[in-house]
Amino acid sequence: MKSIILVAPPAAGKGTQSSLICEKYGLLHISTGDLIREAIAKNDEMSDYLKSQIESGKLVSDEIILKLLGSRLNEMQKGPGYILDGFPRNVNQAIQYDSMLKEMNEKVSCVIYLAISKELAEKRIVGRISCPKCGRVYNEFIAENQPKIENTCDECGIELTKRSDDNAETFGVRFQTYLDETAPLIDYYKKQNILYEVDSTLPTDQVFAQIESIVDQI
Ligand code: AMP
Repeated sequence: MKSIILVAPPAAGKGTQSSLICEKYGLLHISTGDLIREAIAKNDEMSDYLKSQIESGKLVSDEIILKLLGSRLNEMQKGPGYILDGFPRNVNQAIQYDSMLKEMNEKVSCVIYLAISKELAEKRIVGRISCPKCGRVYNEFIAENQPKIENTCDECGIELTKRSDDNAETFGVRFQTYLDETAPLIDYYKKQNILYEVDSTLPTDQVFAQIESIVDQI
């Protein structure tokens, strides 16, 4: 079973590239950000805490994330595999995940690092809008990523929405959190010889072509 991890700063294209990889290789897309947003929608005693972490751009506790991910992996049927989008976010999560996989007799197949500058990430984030139904991501300010009809999904024909954490202020905190907590994963996986770097400043299809050449080898 393939288990692929994407490591990237906010707005490097994790969501978009995950969907393309899943479509081509028949993998399941597991986004911890989506798992949190689903947990918030349940409106239970944890929702307020999760909402405040997301909206301030800070990470949710490792304990909660590992619990959410663990139950998602348990529900999963055996199949060709899955992509983790947004997990791990720090070295402790990576260590815990390695032991979780060891117990299941599995290991991480590869880690794809989507490299992008802070300036481009910010431009992408403040204009990001997406389809609540199919998850496709568009950008209000980048011509090649605008929807054909303003604020409407090309595929589903429904109104596009903006994430509450996609603003310049939260972006600053999220980017700093990425540098402090997530970027050390690059070394962690480099040492295991499973890290592949992709230039994510290029247009979507060219980024995907680089990823295909990696996934085809594993
Ligand atoms: P994302 O959808 O991956 O951009 O994540 C949105 C927000 O969810 C992040 O800014 C964090 O607050 C939270 N989050 C997502 N994944 C994790 C994780 N693995 N660990 C901790 N917090 C997370």
